[in-house]
Amino acid sequence: MLPVKAAIFDIGATLVTGPPVAPNKVIAKLIGVPAADVGSIIMTNDLKSAEHVCKALASRFGALSDDATYEICRLWDSQADAAQALEGASDAVIALKNAGLKIGLLSDIWNPYYESVTKALPEVVSAADAIVLSCRSGSRKPDKANFELMVRELNIRPSECIMIGDTYTHDIQPALEIGMQAVWVLARPDRESDSITKILNGKYLAPSATVQNIADIKQIIPLA
Ligand SMILES: [Mg+2]
Repeated sequence: MLPVKAAIFDIGATLVTGPPVAPNKVIAKLIGVPAADVGSIIMTNDLKSAEHVCKALASRFGALSDDATYEICRLWDSQADAAQALEGASDAVIALKNAGLKIGLLSDIWNPYYESVTKALPEVVSAADAIVLSCRSGSRKPDKANFELMVRELNIRPSECIMIGDTYTHDIQPALEIGMQAVWVLARPDRESDSITKILNGKYLAPSATVQNIADIKQIIPLA
């Protein structure tokens, strides 16, 4: 790997762990619509409260039942406390910050879960020089728009960045394609078997490096 000046971190399953079922899937089940459609609403709009979420969903899918509305409010509240820091995550980010790297956070996320991230990893959020969230930018991975926005916000070239994330198709592939280096945190290999197979067969670009968990990245990031 070449020396870099910035480290950009995915959040979910890279720095924090949370409930096993994603919120768009919970809502999709409640109102009987595809999870991907719910995700495209709640993850790419800057919805400030559960009431705003219900209003946005109703305008797309029709009126929500009282039960669904109640459960969505409960989900919002639970998400605001749901993120738990992964062991070594904060230390890893702070070590790179102290080594002189700029720090970016780049996540597909909705507001309540981001709030819980700020509680779980306050030092990481404070250390960040740029934070690009799908609910504020309006774009989601694997679209490269947020990667390009991050590069502009850090005022740096893609080749000077290293992306660190757990999902090959959403974190590693777009980063490599715009010229960043990328470290794959293979924390959930069972979910990544398709990408692993394609990399081994030469169909996908290989990551710059792979680690088993976030605590291992400190040793392998080359500093400029
Ligand atoms: Mg992730």
